[in-house]
Amino acid sequence: MTTETSVSPIYFDYLDQIANLELKNKPAQQGGTAIRYRIAREQQGDTALCGLISQSFLKQESKKPVILVTGTGNPVWLPEGETDGPSGVAILARAFASIGIPSCILAEERFLPGVLASVRAGGMPILSEESWLKRTNGAWCQPFPTGAKAALPFIESLLSRPHGWSGVFFIEKPGPSVEGCFHNSSGVPKDPEWVGHAHMLADAARQQGVLTVGVGDGGNEIGFGVIREALYHAHPQRFKCQCGCETGLLDGTIVDYLFPCSVSNWGAYALAAALALHQGRSHILPQWPEIEASIRAPLDHGAFDGYTGMAMPSVDGVSLKANRSVYHLFEEVVQLASFG
Ligand SMILES: [Zn+2]
Repeated sequence: MTTETSVSPIYFDYLDQIANLELKNKPAQQGGTAIRYRIAREQQGDTALCGLISQSFLKQESKKPVILVTGTGNPVWLPEGETDGPSGVAILARAFASIGIPSCILAEERFLPGVLASVRAGGMPILSEESWLKRTNGAWCQPFPTGAKAALPFIESLLSRPHGWSGVFFIEKPGPSVEGCFHNSSGVPKDPEWVGHAHMLADAARQQGVLTVGVGDGGNEIGFGVIREALYHAHPQRFKCQCGCETGLLDGTIVDYLFPCSVSNWGAYALAAALALHQGRSHILPQWPEIEASIRAPLDHGAFDGYTGMAMPSVDGVSLKANRSVYHLFEEVVQLASFG
């Protein structure tokens, strides 16, 4: 693996900007994207975050597998998950496979069918652990158990696999506040027994020196612990929760790097594009038809758009057409960098 860093940093800024293009029609949500990104960038060296994360990952020069975690929902609105998260994981898994790194994909059992369908539609084969271990370009998928008690034994078993891990990426994965309350992005508390306690995986991975990355678009996702104090104190009304947590609905989990974006899938696409840039290999990025398939696939397994609650191939209220435009902008940046 190369750690080539001669790409002009401006291209990573472009990718960050595209991932943070805000398109919301609910007044309470409007304007939040720029706030989250600005504070995260300031606190992490004032540099493009997708460039920082991809470079830190590649610097390890490791071919050990990565863990990709997703799965968001609630019993009323999104009982079988949403369209944001699965496609991001699918495309990131493709990018890692292109550089010889296999992916282990985790989501709660109730979300897993949609996630698996997305990963397959994006072009990744889903394998048994045995064949996955013998290949460099497959995905092995496991259900993340729900509830606090089940998490630690599962995490310990996963992290103790002899092959080791080169990173854990949380893509649109809710985490609890420092008080231990899970919230949706509007600050409504969730039953902690209904969700996977994946934030414990972030803590355990960091203790073992495994790189951890959070990609989120609301503030309630794993990784926002990195900026929760600054974010809440700058905008207390925006992030208030219904249960009165100290920093509201904001996740309290610390990761090595946080990448806030407008739509979590777009953050994952930006990371895939950043990996392609660093490697000087534009073909790492899958083509749009695979992205579209990966967005549509979870709908057949009961997922909805998390913003509109509709069974339509939009993501966080952004139409498929706009998702296509955004994806082509990522491709444009990789092309510009490749051909000067
Ligand atoms: Zn709360």
